[in-house]
Amino acid sequence: MDNAYFEAMEAKIPRGRIRTRFAPSPTGYMHVGNLRTALYTWLIARNGGGTFILRIEDTDQGRLVEGATDVIYRTMAECGLTHDEGPDVGGPVAPYIQSERRDTYGRYARLLVERGHAYYCFCEKTESEEDAGEWDRAADPCRALSPEEAQARVDAGEPYVIRQRIPAAGTTTFRDAIFGDITVENAALDDQVLLKRDGLPTYNFANVIDDHLMGITHVVRGSEYLSSAPKYNLLYEGFGWDVPTYVHCSPVMRDQHNKMSKRHGDPSYEDLKAQGYLTEAILNYVALLGWSPRGEQAEREVFSLAELAEVFDIAGISKSPAIFDIEKLTHFNALYLRAMTPEAFHAAAEPYIRQAVRNPALDTRAIAALLQARCERLTEIPEKVDFFEALPAYEKDLFTNKKSKTNDEVARSMLEAAIPALEELGSWDQESIHACLTDLAARLEVKNATLMWPVRIAAAGRAVTPGGAVEICLILGREECLRRLGLGLEKLTV
Ligand code: GLU
Repeated sequence: MDNAYFEAMEAKIPRGRIRTRFAPSPTGYMHVGNLRTALYTWLIARNGGGTFILRIEDTDQGRLVEGATDVIYRTMAECGLTHDEGPDVGGPVAPYIQSERRDTYGRYARLLVERGHAYYCFCEKTESEEDAGEWDRAADPCRALSPEEAQARVDAGEPYVIRQRIPAAGTTTFRDAIFGDITVENAALDDQVLLKRDGLPTYNFANVIDDHLMGITHVVRGSEYLSSAPKYNLLYEGFGWDVPTYVHCSPVMRDQHNKMSKRHGDPSYEDLKAQGYLTEAILNYVALLGWSPRGEQAEREVFSLAELAEVFDIAGISKSPAIFDIEKLTHFNALYLRAMTPEAFHAAAEPYIRQAVRNPALDTRAIAALLQARCERLTEIPEKVDFFEALPAYEKDLFTNKKSKTNDEVARSMLEAAIPALEELGSWDQESIHACLTDLAARLEVKNATLMWPVRIAAAGRAVTPGGAVEICLILGREECLRRLGLGLEKLTV
């Protein structure tokens, strides 16, 4: 054995500070559970002044998807989950892509054989037989081979896998920060494959090697890996390494019984963005899916990423699965939209406004100002504002409204009065239009609403609009506004 190699690897491991890693497999899709794992992992590092590492777990070559790592980089960058070490930025324990670490896994697998905690297995087995786990450990002829015999067969070029040698008797106990101490019978664990025939490691092996060699102090991942944790412990022990702190997080569910899944059409991060949700709102909501603040902050719901990094603690992570509730996310989104500066809201809303309002004369800032308090998702915008672009066809009965005390006849006389008043108006600005219409209502001895209702209906052709008559008239501009009021009057006159 090449001890110098192992010693050099040990010497590279950064120590003394918190180090966490997000270790996605490039599946081409960042589901909500993954995003949450990334977020919690990042928060643990940032909260403790530690280092956050991105590692790409691409050893399962069959599952590789073109462009899949781009989704990971893009999502992390958009979310502000910056990594200190990773494939693109490098770091002291590079490389950070598992397929580039192939040589390392083989060396460590053989080291484990030498230490007696793994063995060469020459039995031909298909992957599905392997997966089925119906494998009688005692009956594996290779487990009992002497090291010399096994080595001779390896040297002769016989294909092999390397399996973990699980103790036949006894129990293994591991500690998880969320689930506490868990003890299992060793007899219930299988001699899992560590290194495959093609020389690539299995996920379960690569993960342990990398977490150790990268100096990971907190391993944060989905609770689907909980059942493998005793085998990880035995690997760490077999090498004589310290076991990191495990933080297994319960799944994010679509309902009481089912996990969120792409197959069921549940949204990924990118889908949520496309549905008009803001990154900040998604992160805030996702943070609370399975974690809650404690103490003085217990009732608080709204947190920026920086604020989360201050208050996040592992003890606040829940054991119970969380249910993803799109209504709740929508609620957060509306809060975030409202809290934006007008400039930031305009920047976010403009592309959506422009989907429906192409006329460059229409001021998107003024339209955005009407929308900010009235929209929950950016994608609602085009249908709310399309009337600015073109007057929709509408029925005359929109002019009738009980509360505003209008009917066809009242609406007609209001428009008859409003048109010349607006025509004569010196300046087309908010204040002048407002004063013109309220003065006119006073002169006509009607409630403001009695005049405003028909003006707004004629200007917009819609019963429900963001903004009132004055704002809509202003944005349309004098000419288009008067044209529309004229058309309304015509409708009421025939
Ligand atoms: N590559 C694994 C996954 O994407 C990561 C599990 C872990 O973080 O240990 O599920």
